[in-house]
Amino acid sequence: MRVSWLLLSIWLVANANAASASTRLYEDMSVLTSSEHQGREAGSPTPNITAQFLHERFQSLGIEVNYQSFEFKNGFFSKKLGHNVIATLPCTVDQCGKKLVITAHYDHLGGRENSFYAGANDNATGTAALLAIAKVLKEQTRFSDVIFLATDAEEKGLYGAKHYVSETDINGYALNINLDMLAINNRNTLYALHDKKAKKYIEQFKQQENPFKVFSTSSQFRLHKKLNDNRINWHKASDHYAFSLKKIPYIYFGMGIDDKHHTKKDTLDNMNFEKYQAVVESISDFIVSLAQIPLDSTN
Ligand SMILES: [Zn+2]
Repeated sequence: MRVSWLLLSIWLVANANAASASTRLYEDMSVLTSSEHQGREAGSPTPNITAQFLHERFQSLGIEVNYQSFEFKNGFFSKKLGHNVIATLPCTVDQCGKKLVITAHYDHLGGRENSFYAGANDNATGTAALLAIAKVLKEQTRFSDVIFLATDAEEKGLYGAKHYVSETDINGYALNINLDMLAINNRNTLYALHDKKAKKYIEQFKQQENPFKVFSTSSQFRLHKKLNDNRINWHKASDHYAFSLKKIPYIYFGMGIDDKHHTKKDTLDNMNFEKYQAVVESISDFIVSLAQIPLDSTN
């Protein structure tokens, strides 16, 4: 009797934790896509409301966080200041592997308070996922430093990610995992484009019990064929490209072609939150498992 009460209370606590994680993910998505954030336009003289929100959220999780500012070209003649938000969970063992950096761009197309681009899928999904994964990973043993990099000015030309890698000693890095557009739709498929050197890691992800299909490839050609669409150069389409230019292995997770991409219909109401949540949980499990081994980019 006692044992079953104990099991029941463990079950209740586990479910309460899962429920609160899901509520928090929904709340973060709501904030990022709200009219206050006005479509998260890239660049501002000082960190904008979205950068400040992310900074506060990482801080409230007890994770060290900093801004990294950079200049970027905005049109032919003008420049703007962008602000990456960088949170770091340090390695917790003596023999640390190389670093793991998880990226998601928080900027989108902007707009005005009463008419703005919410950018729910692109890329509030990746940004809110960073917060959810950081919360889980904070409680785990880590064999590598894990860096959560929320980039600015991706939409303008991957400027935040390019600036980050320009300031970085690439030898210290094992892997970049880039999250951009995670709201999988009725195809129920998560796409993973990866560097050849990251193949063993993606195989590990595919061995998990994921409640959706995973299509992974290092071949742009195969991805075009699978999506029946060859308009997008996926190797260059998001922040992972900045890491690949520096020879850092990468995995890019995304949902493929979105017919609401860069329209005002890319809203939280128009995406399937449960499917998105399942994607975040799977990627979170994957990153926890990667953190349990000393990573090295050469093996
Ligand atoms: Zn994007």
